Amino acid sequence: MDKILVHICCGVDSVYALRKLKEDFPNSELIGYFYDPNIHPEEEFELRWIETKRVCNQLGIECIKGDYDLDLWLSSVKGLENEPERGERCTVCHDVRLTKSAEIAKELGCNKLTTVLMMSPKKDFEVLKEVGEKVASEYGLEFLAIDFRKNGGTEKMNKLAKESELYHQNYCGCIFGLLPQRQFSDFIPELITFSKGRLAGSREELLFIKQIRLYAESNGIKCKEKDFSFIGWRLLSSVCKVNKDYVNHKVLPYSRTIKGVLRAIVSKIEEREDFKIAYLNKGNAKIYILNELKELPLSEPRIFTDPVFIVDTQLKEGDKVELQLKSEFIPDMVSQNLYIGDVESSERKLEFYSDTDSDGNNGYRLEDIISAIDENKEDIEAGKVGIVVYGVELVGRLGRRAIS
Ligand code: SF4
Repeated sequence: MDKILVHICCGVDSVYALRKLKEDFPNSELIGYFYDPNIHPEEEFELRWIETKRVCNQLGIECIKGDYDLDLWLSSVKGLENEPERGERCTVCHDVRLTKSAEIAKELGCNKLTTVLMMSPKKDFEVLKEVGEKVASEYGLEFLAIDFRKNGGTEKMNKLAKESELYHQNYCGCIFGLLPQRQFSDFIPELITFSKGRLAGSREELLFIKQIRLYAESNGIKCKEKDFSFIGWRLLSSVCKVNKDYVNHKVLPYSRTIKGVLRAIVSKIEEREDFKIAYLNKGNAKIYILNELKELPLSEPRIFTDPVFIVDTQLKEGDKVELQLKSEFIPDMVSQNLYIGDVESSERKLEFYSDTDSDGNNGYRLEDIISAIDENKEDIEAGKVGIVVYGVELVGRLGRRAIS
C-alpha cells in the first residue's frame, strides 16, 4: 500500500487538499506532517498547528507536529531577507520545509511526498513542483505535484474553512514577508506580544480559545465560535514619579495618552471602600492608591478615558507627581466567544472567559475549562449543560455584551 507523507502548513490550506488526497488516493495511507519553522511569531506557529490538528482530527488523519526550527530557517534564508514574495527566499523556504518532510517520510517508510502549499493561491505551483521533485528524488520518494486549486478547489477550500470556523491568517508566515505588507503602519499587531498574559483580542487569547475547542471537539462535543469587533487598547509606555522618585505602578485600561509630561501636585485624597483616589491640581489624570499593586479589571466599558495610574505608595496632599503615558486605541480588534455544546437550549450554562491581565492573572487556566468539560461531558452531550467562554472580559465584559 502507498504511504503518502503530506507536508502541512496550516488548517486552511489543508481543509480541502486533504479531502482531495483522500478521494484521489483511497487505498493509500496519509500521514500529515506540520512543519513551519518560517512562521513568526511562535504563537502564530502554535495557532496554525492547532487548526491543522483540528482538520486532521475531522478527517481521521494522523498528524505529526514538527519542531519550530526557527534558527535553521533563519540561517537558510540569510541574505534573502529583502526578496519579494514568490522570490528566491520563498524557493529556499519551500526547500527547507520539504527537505525535512522528505527526511521524516523516509523515517516513516513512506514512498510518496506531497505538500498542501500547492493549495495556496499565493504560491508558485511550478516552483513548488520543481523543489518537491528535486527533494523527493534525493530521498528516493515520488513527489505528487497536484494543483489543488484547479476545478474550483480554491472555492471549495474557502467554503470548508468557513464551515469549520478555521483561523484564517492574513500573511504568509515569515517576518520578512510581513514587514513590506505593513510598511505604512507603525503598529504591526501580528508581532505584538505586550505581556505574559492573554490580553483581550490578542493572538494568545485566540490560541486559548482554539486549544479549548480542539479539546472539546476531540471528545466529540460540538463547538461554535462567534467573532465580535471591539475597540482595543494597548499601553505603550508609562512613567510615574512621586517627589522625584520612580514609583512602581499599573495603568487602568483605556487610559489615554498624556501629551508630554504632566507635572502636578496632589490636591485632594478621597477615601473609597477598597482604595483611595489622589486628585491632581491640573490635568485630568488620577491616581488610585491600593494596598497591593495589581491591575484592576473593568466590569463596564470605560466611556471616559482619562488617564488613571494605580500605585501602592501612600500619597498625601502636596506631593509632587510627574506622569508620562503613551497608549494606543485600536479600532478594529476582533475577539470571539466560544460555545461548547448546545448552550442556547441547555438548562444550565457554565461561564468562563479567555483573557487575563498583562501579568497573566485574573483569568482561567486551560486545565480549569478542560476539567469543566470532563466533569460535565455527559450532560453536555445530553443538551443539559452548555459552556460559554467569553472573549474580552476584563476590560468591560465585552464578550457578554456582544450577545446581549
Ligand atoms: S513569504 Fe512565505 S513562502 Fe516566502 S519565505 Fe516567507 S514564509 Fe516562506
